[in-house]
Amino acid sequence: MTTNRRNFIIASAGSAAFLAAGASSAAAPKKASWDLTTDVLIFGAGQAGLCAAIAARESKAQVILFEKGAFCGGHTGMSGSGYYIGGTDIQKKAGIEDSVEINWKDSVDRGVKAHRFIKRDTAVVRRVYDEGIAGMAWLEKHGVKFMPKPVQGIGNRRRVHYVAPGYKKGSPVLIDTLLKEAQKLGAKVQTEMQLDSLITQTGEPTLGVRVVGARVKGADGKIINVRARKGVILATGGFANSA
Ligand SMILES: Cc1cc2nc3c(=O)[nH]c(=O)nc-3n(C[C@H](O)[C@H](O)[C@H](O)COP(=O)(O)OP(=O)(O)OC[C@H]3O[C@@H](n4cnc5c(N)ncnc54)[C@H](O)[C@@H]3O)c2cc1C
Repeated sequence: MTTNRRNFIIASAGSAAFLAAGASSAAAPKKASWDLTTDVLIFGAGQAGLCAAIAARESKAQVILFEKGAFCGGHTGMSGSGYYIGGTDIQKKAGIEDSVEINWKDSVDRGVKAHRFIKRDTAVVRRVYDEGIAGMAWLEKHGVKFMPKPVQGIGNRRRVHYVAPGYKKGSPVLIDTLLKEAQKLGAKVQTEMQLDSLITQTGEPTLGVRVVGARVKGADGKIINVRARKGVILATGGFANSA
């Protein structure tokens, strides 16, 4: 395998992001030889990466998901598993009057009081509120079960929806459910495979250049080049466990 270090961008695998998604096929950079090829290459097997794998398989794309750790889960697997969503059917069934707007106003009011939101991109935050109900329905479609009674967190309504069987215990169940679903749909998931750096089409580490694959390091230190015809998705979570 011939690799030239100058031909690779060092990845800053800090936050989830799409890279080089597109319909056209990606040509190999002149000096890289490919060990594996897929349509969509995903890094990080927390909730974001596993959901991306399921969604990509729903679109019939070939998927390889690599996780750096010895097991899947990331922060998601140790989280409370609470979804802070207003206006759900689960709330209605539990007799809780709430909506996207009530939730949004409550959060903005609290954010303003706490001097948050002032310099933040509220359009991005708002999207989480707008798409939350559909997002939970999508998770349910893929086997995730929520507790029937949302609980009170911060805020003016009982709107924290924990994954069954509840606070913290739901998070490993969530990961297990999403992992099994991704694999059932045909995604290839492999642990102890770490994103080392991204490979660009031109081989130059330049902004705006298409990403066509990645260098991936196994537990034995061996590096392989993986080609992604449609795109690379970084779902490597926050800074605390990034590369
Ligand atoms: C204790 C705790 C409780 C929380 N409770 C809640 C809650 O109740 N509700 C809520 O909304 N949020 C909660 N959060 C926040 C929430 O868990 C995170 O925002 C969410 O899990 C992030 O998901 P993710 O898929 O983006 O990242 P993660 O779940 O962290 O997954 C990222 C994965 O990428 C892997 N990775 C990193 N670098 C590489 C690399 N170079 N190559 C390959 N893989 C790599 C990591 O090992 C990890 O498995 C909580 C967080 C914590 C820590």
